[in-house]
Amino acid sequence: MSYFSLRKLTKAYASQTALHEFSLDLGKGEMIAVVGESGSGKSSLLRIAAGLLTQSSGEVWLGDTRILNPKEKLVAGYDEIKLIHQDYQLSPSTTIEENIARPLLLFDPGYRKARVEKLLMQFGLDRYRDRLPRNLSGGQQQKVAIAQALAVEPEVLLLDEPFSHLDTIQKHRLIFELKELLQESGTTVIFVTHDLDDALRLTDTILILQKGKVVQKGNSRELCLHPKTRYVARLFSPINLIPGRFDSYIRPADVRLRTKGELLGHVVDQRFLVHYNSLLVRLKDGGDVWEVDDPFRKYQVGDRVYLHFDEEKVLVLKG
Ligand code: ADP
Ligand code: MG
Repeated sequence: MSYFSLRKLTKAYASQTALHEFSLDLGKGEMIAVVGESGSGKSSLLRIAAGLLTQSSGEVWLGDTRILNPKEKLVAGYDEIKLIHQDYQLSPSTTIEENIARPLLLFDPGYRKARVEKLLMQFGLDRYRDRLPRNLSGGQQQKVAIAQALAVEPEVLLLDEPFSHLDTIQKHRLIFELKELLQESGTTVIFVTHDLDDALRLTDTILILQKGKVVQKGNSRELCLHPKTRYVARLFSPINLIPGRFDSYIRPADVRLRTKGELLGHVVDQRFLVHYNSLLVRLKDGGDVWEVDDPFRKYQVGDRVYLHFDEEKVLVLKG
């Protein structure tokens, strides 16, 4: 059943349309990620969803309440819907505990204390409670920001690229922890990011946004194996155009390297990556450069190599 409902949201700025008839229905406690390149309309979408930006048309509903936009409401925004973004600021001169308690200042002191204790424990922040934000790592600070947003038990949490300034290790750990916490609390979540990998780690369902329009929706497997467009396919990996077949592509990991065959090329660059070498191979006919994986680290710059692929791995893509 639909609980948080975005209905045909359109946002036109003076020079361009950032969002075009975007619709999404989420059940209570459902989590979804919206992935799109920079400028695809993600932040506009979340700000409208939070009641912080006025849409050109369309409606936002939470249960049977229509979310009013800033033109309709004196104080923009709702306690039920919390938006967290990358540059979210904690109060620098108060402790972690006080930061988390801040949204609860008007609440009953007994309730406030119990709620803050619970969040400190849940988020593993208990031992940092007396520290100032600057004495925590970026990942921990972002965790405090999310704990603070959850203090008032919002129904909906909107995450706008909240992990972008964290290093990979911090980020993966935080996503892993958050996934469990948010599922436990039954919060309805929309997570937007330009990073498909982050999205795959946090949610099962992903919606791909391009220039303000939804181009595909599905789980990671469907999107990876059956991308509809080049844009969607490229979010997962580079793709190589097959010579003479203008809409057919193959991924680097699906190319096998042999000493005999038909599609000949020369290795023009080689990179040592964690699990394989990545090669750039210039094809003999046509001159295109392919990116391919060399899992056995066999080939060097200058080597001749024949490229093979299974027809079933070929992606036929639009646009
Ligand atoms: P994203 O978060 O995916 O990068 P945004 O929603 O921030 O996308 O922006 C979508 C498009 O709308 C961009 O091309 C951006 O330049 C434009 N845009 C965003 N905010 C404004 C604004 N206040 N005025 C004019 N154009 C804007
Ligand atoms: Mg943005």
